[in-house]
Amino acid sequence: AVANIGVVGLAVMGSNLARNLASREGNKVAILNRSRSKTDELLAAHPEAEFVGTFSYEEFAASLAKPRTAIIMVKAGGPTDAVIDELVKVFEPGDIIVDGGNAYFPDTIRREKAVRETGINFVGAGISGGEEGALTGPSIMPGGSDESWITLGPILKSIAAVAEGEPCVTHVGHDGAGHFVKMVHNGIEYADMQLIAEAYDLIRRGTGKTPAEIAEVFAEWNKGELESYLIEITAEVLRQVDAETGKPLVDVILDQAGAKGTGAWTVQTALSLGVPVSGIAEATFARSLSSHPEQRAAARSFPGPDEEFTVADADAFIEDVRQALFASKIIAYSQGFDEIRAGAAEYNWTIDNGAVSRIWRGGCIIRAQFLNRIADAYAEQPELPLLASAPYFADALARGQAAWRRVVIAATQAGIPSPAFSSSLAYYDGIRAERLPAALVQGQRDFFGAHTYKRIDKEGTFHTQWSGDRTEIEAEDTH
Ligand code: NDP
Repeated sequence: AVANIGVVGLAVMGSNLARNLASREGNKVAILNRSRSKTDELLAAHPEAEFVGTFSYEEFAASLAKPRTAIIMVKAGGPTDAVIDELVKVFEPGDIIVDGGNAYFPDTIRREKAVRETGINFVGAGISGGEEGALTGPSIMPGGSDESWITLGPILKSIAAVAEGEPCVTHVGHDGAGHFVKMVHNGIEYADMQLIAEAYDLIRRGTGKTPAEIAEVFAEWNKGELESYLIEITAEVLRQVDAETGKPLVDVILDQAGAKGTGAWTVQTALSLGVPVSGIAEATFARSLSSHPEQRAAARSFPGPDEEFTVADADAFIEDVRQALFASKIIAYSQGFDEIRAGAAEYNWTIDNGAVSRIWRGGCIIRAQFLNRIADAYAEQPELPLLASAPYFADALARGQAAWRRVVIAATQAGIPSPAFSSSLAYYDGIRAERLPAALVQGQRDFFGAHTYKRIDKEGTFHTQWSGDRTEIEAEDTH
């Protein structure tokens, strides 16, 4: 036994993670892949790396010092189960199996339970940062037991990104908590990307600026409160010229957005938990809408507004869009953290939202200065019921709301879809409302289904006898 850590699955993510591990002082990394070629290639490409090439699960287990620790980086779903089944056969109680793939958290809960029965520890760890992050330092969101964190913690800290001196990894919570938080991270990423895309679209169509000119706007924004990796790469993408046509690359890319499902998981889970993640949902739906060319062709002749869209003062409009983007972003993050709060309550996880925001400051796709503000907000008030209500964010919303409204109005009048901007504003107005028309919905529910209602002026549950004399009676609470 010569290796202190192992990696199973050597496609882009696994091979980069293995190289990252091998580059750290004192590590020797056992590597294994289903098909032998990837292992041979990795060994040949990096003769300098501290790798132990293995070609069977027996050899892999024999090469690892105890407690054995192995990170699985294979295709999520069936392949992950297949690898776990093999590892359980050759590992022993006390050993640790880490799934670093993009697993759906209920699968992680199921796997953790099943593997725990063998005495082996199972840790579902969300890893964000793409292939580059895996190599140079990702943000890592591990779940699993406290016992496994003792062995795993130092290893993961050694390979994670570092933000302001802190490694971007924390023990998020038990069993599926890590993959849950990774899922919400991706949902927030969807919202962030859609908001930026809407900002670009509005500026382009409102001011007539070219993509390269708008790249400068984003580069400027990246110096302020919007500073983030996604704003930075947006400027890069907008600046890119297509070698073949000489046009801006963004103009030759087919406008149908793909998705690998984590946004949809975030929304599905939010629906089950009853958490309104409307910004994330609209961002996910916007991708779906874009990728139905036949429906878009069928609707192409629908009329839009008569007047052309031009803004009188381009600089003022751009500043309005910036403020609308920042306000909508606050709402998207607030909704994401709300989902984490609700998930923790549902699945009995103890999740420190402040710690989650700190490990997202480096390595991952949504990394941003902004996350420091979230960390501050939770440090100030760990049980904050609504992130957006923390003083810094509430002030920003108050300052930005007029601009936000102007932008949504302009988009609506111009016939430019801005689902993430406008749904975030609708959430803002909904959550701050003194009274909501939910009262009428309760009345309707009571009318057709005797679902009962509560009153603002006295305790109890009531039903109006709609089909009878319409007098009100006290009723059993049926929700
Ligand atoms: P892929 O998701 O493309 O998976 C390929 C790997 O899975 C190969 O090593 C392949 O082995 C192995 N595999 C497939 N089926 C089986 C099986 N039945 N038994 C054993 N091994 C199998 O690789 P990636 O590197 O892109 O991603 C790995 C994981 O990391 C995934 O869960 C992904 O969602 C996640 N992830 C990916 C990110 C990215 O940017 N790509 C970012 C963050 C997470 P073989 O060579 O034999 O085919």
